[in-house]
Amino acid sequence: MQFRIQNMTIQSFDWYNPTKLIVKHDASAEIVDYLVQDNIASVMLVYGRSSAKRIGVYDAVVNALKMKNIRIFELPNIRPNPQIERVIEGINICRLHNIQAMLPLGGGSCFDTAKGIAIGALFPHDVPAETIWNCYERTLVPKSALPIYGVMTCSGTGSGMNHASVMQDDKQKKKFAFGSSVVFPKVSIIDPKLQASLPWYVQVGGFVDAFMHICENLTNMEDPEEAETTYAIDISLCRSIIKAGDKLLKDPNDHVARANFIWADICAIDQLSAIAMKGGDIGVHMLQHAMTAVNPNIQHGAGIGVAFLAFIKVNGERGLRKATYDRMAKEIFGREGWQGLYDGFKEVLVRWGHPTTLDELFGRKMTEEDRAELLRVFNMNSITCNHYPDRKMPQELAIEAYRVI
Ligand SMILES: [Zn+2]
Repeated sequence: MQFRIQNMTIQSFDWYNPTKLIVKHDASAEIVDYLVQDNIASVMLVYGRSSAKRIGVYDAVVNALKMKNIRIFELPNIRPNPQIERVIEGINICRLHNIQAMLPLGGGSCFDTAKGIAIGALFPHDVPAETIWNCYERTLVPKSALPIYGVMTCSGTGSGMNHASVMQDDKQKKKFAFGSSVVFPKVSIIDPKLQASLPWYVQVGGFVDAFMHICENLTNMEDPEEAETTYAIDISLCRSIIKAGDKLLKDPNDHVARANFIWADICAIDQLSAIAMKGGDIGVHMLQHAMTAVNPNIQHGAGIGVAFLAFIKVNGERGLRKATYDRMAKEIFGREGWQGLYDGFKEVLVRWGHPTTLDELFGRKMTEEDRAELLRVFNMNSITCNHYPDRKMPQELAIEAYRVI
C-alpha cells in the first residue's frame, strides 16, 4: 500500500527516493561493501523461516560480514504478514547491544519488520519499545531510524525501495501501516535469479500485489488526462507485469522476464506511479488487510486479487469510475467497460492459479457471520481515498464488497 501526497498535481509535485537499488546476479554479499563504506560495525539480520538459508543468501552475507569483522545479531523466523511482537523484540535487542544498522534478508515482511525496529531502536531510553505500535496507529510520527541495508529475495511489496511498513497485531486483529522518509533503505540488492525457486503461489502473490499498487493510482482518476504521463507509465507497468508473469508461468528461470517484473514492482510503489494521481485509492488494500487480520494465514497477494474483483464489481455496477475502468480495460486487456476490466483481471488470476472468491481464499464456505466479521475488522480502519467524505469508503460499498465474492 502507498502513502501519497494528496494535493500533488502534474504542475506541482515532488518526488523523493534516496534508496540505491542494485539489481544484479550473485550480488547479495555486496551489501557488506556498503556497510564497510559507512563504517557500520554491527548489524541485525532480519530473515524469514527458511528461504534465506535454502537459497544460500544467508551464508553468503554472513560469511562476508565475518570477513569484515562486523558483529552479527539475528532476528529469524519472521512470518508473512509480520507481527508487531517481533518488532518489539528486535528493538529491545538493538537497544541492549547498540546495534548500528538493520540488514533484512527476505521479502516485504522482513523489510517491514526491519523498518519498525530501525525507528524504535532510536527511541529515547525512557520510551518503551511497545510505543512503536503508535507509528502504525499514526499517533506518533517517526523522527529518526537506524540505516537499513537489505537483500530482497521476493518482490511484490516494493518494500526494498519505499518508505512504508505494514504490521499486524493479531490480538487486536489490526493490520496497520505507516509511511516515513526515515525508513527508506539506504541500499537494496535484488538478485533476479534467486526468485526462480520461490513457490509459484508466492511468486503470483508478488505479481498481483505489484499490479494492485499501480491500479490503486489508476482507479482513483476520473480524468486520466490530468496526469497523462503518470497514467501512461502506470498502464505500461500493468501490461509489463502480466507479460512477465505469463512468461514466468512457462519458465521460472526466464531471468529477463524476472528482472522486468522486479523493475516494474519497484516502479509500482517508489512513488513514481503515484505522481499527481490524487493520493490513489487504497480501498482494495484495506479490504484485504481485514482478511489477513481475521486469518494471518491468508496470503496478501491472494487476498488482493479477490478484493480487486469485488472492488471493480461494486463500483462498476453503480456506474462509478466509468471512464477510468473503460480505459484500463481497453489499454491493459483490450476489452471494454468495467466488465472488461473484471473479466480480464479474473482470467489472469485463473491462468496463474490464484483464488477468485472468498471461499477459495479461505478454503471453506464463508458464512454470513464470516462476512460480517470481515466488515467489522475493515471498519476499524476504512480510510481509503479522497472521493469520500472523511476519506472513508461508504458502508454500502464495503458491505457489498464482502458479499459479491
Ligand atoms: Zn500490497
